[in-house]
Amino acid sequence: MNMHDQIEETEVSILHTYNRFPVVFDRGEGVYLYDTEGKKYLDFAAGIAVNSLGYHYPGYDEGLKEQIDKLTHISNLYYTQPLSAAGSRLLIASHMHKVFFTNSGAEAIEGALKAAKKYAYTKTGHADHEIIAMEDSFHGRTVGSLSVTGNDHYREPFLPLMGGVRFAKYNDLESVRSLINEKTCAIILETVQGEGGIHPATHGFLEGVRRLCDEHDILLILDEIQCGMGRTGYYFAWQAYGVQPDIMTTAKALGCGVPVGAFVLNEKAASASLVPGDHGTTYGGNPFACAAVSKVFEIYERDMILAHVQELTPYLEKALDSLVERFDCVKERRGMGFMQGLEITGRPVGAIINAALEAGLVVISAGTNVLRLVPPLIITRDHVDEMTGILEKIL
Ligand SMILES: *Cc1c(COP(=O)(O)O)cnc(C)c1O
Repeated sequence: MNMHDQIEETEVSILHTYNRFPVVFDRGEGVYLYDTEGKKYLDFAAGIAVNSLGYHYPGYDEGLKEQIDKLTHISNLYYTQPLSAAGSRLLIASHMHKVFFTNSGAEAIEGALKAAKKYAYTKTGHADHEIIAMEDSFHGRTVGSLSVTGNDHYREPFLPLMGGVRFAKYNDLESVRSLINEKTCAIILETVQGEGGIHPATHGFLEGVRRLCDEHDILLILDEIQCGMGRTGYYFAWQAYGVQPDIMTTAKALGCGVPVGAFVLNEKAASASLVPGDHGTTYGGNPFACAAVSKVFEIYERDMILAHVQELTPYLEKALDSLVERFDCVKERRGMGFMQGLEITGRPVGAIINAALEAGLVVISAGTNVLRLVPPLIITRDHVDEMTGILEKIL
């Protein structure tokens, strides 16, 4: 079936909640994708910061296949070896205390919010606590995660959402401080805002929020769903700041293509929050997803993926900075590691993305005017050169 017919057939059955790009992807190899008509694309989107090991990375498929041949699902009523292995991998990487596995990022946020509420409930003996979230944030599409997402366009049709959420200005410590009251139980933010347009937290802001949380016994929830798992050159972006969360969420690249997320708690949050009966999931933490998590960590360690990101970041940043210098429509570069955004002015970012796709480069947007680059973490200098070569022609 040609791509056009495939697209038509898809639109017959699938609810139209995405304006998809007019391409039907068929397979991947390394950091390249191929559509069903055989055209090759350099992938600088990685399935929205998911496919950090690209496609068919040595050892990854084999790890999954091995687990499929044993057991893919059993339920959280029982223990499995992959569950404990994945849990300890995540704790070693984060130096945190306990893990709860989910199927997605939004579910990790839901769990983190419940854990924070339960912590405050345990501490004070009553409910009705509040959460401070950030403007221009993104935490997911479920009702709970949407309640802390600072984007009116996403929220409005679904009001009222979960109550007790106040929005502060990101990177503005005073605006956070002014919203704190005796009901505040948690502050949630992305260490690097993704969907909102690639905005890293400033050191002063993150340190200041941590201090406020300590002063008022408020839990700090850092959403590392997009910026975590090596994307900034650290397992988790907060490790670059030396600021520790009480609860962290992760997903996207955690399974490098297998749907899995988690919320991770420090000792304080774990010791006085969720207990049996408080939270659950059918699929979360199943042996297949957990085998993927362990395999990802094993490969990251074996092939020193974090060191590679740190080493190549200056080269990527320099290449992008040169686009800022040479093209008037590229106003600014923002980001950390392999999570980079180019702010575009004077023309719609969508037109650039479509032209890139046409030219064999997959990139995506963030916010209204940012070209987002979140490639697989295994790209080399040659791939950076290939990407800038294509963007130069388009711009
Ligand atoms: C993608 C994302 C989410 C939601 O994850 P899903 O798996 O799509 O539910 C939450 N927070 C951040 C920062 C994200 O980038």
